[in-house]
Amino acid sequence: MKINKEIMSYCKFCRKHTSHNVKTYTKKAQRGLSLGTRRHNRAIKGYVGSIEPKIHPKKLGRKQKVMVACSQCKKITERVFGMRTKKKIEIAR
Ligand SMILES: [Zn+2]
Repeated sequence: MKINKEIMSYCKFCRKHTSHNVKTYTKKAQRGLSLGTRRHNRAIKGYVGSIEPKIHPKKLGRKQKVMVACSQCKKITERVFGMRTKKKIEIAR
């Protein structure tokens, strides 16, 4: 899947369509006091190791994420493109 380096897209901070620079997805670090982390800590409280993981159905490929940065306010947001693919996203130059 190929994506242009610069796309026109809606910016929720500027509240209008502006040009965005596309970059590859960078994983965010887990927040120590977020609700999901607190819930997980409550669930594993009292156990020595980890609780038994849920069995998820096998999915074909994954939805690819990219980071888009607004050219006016320079704020960076995540964006999911299209459907599930096995290949990684290529950013055209
Ligand atoms: Zn903006």
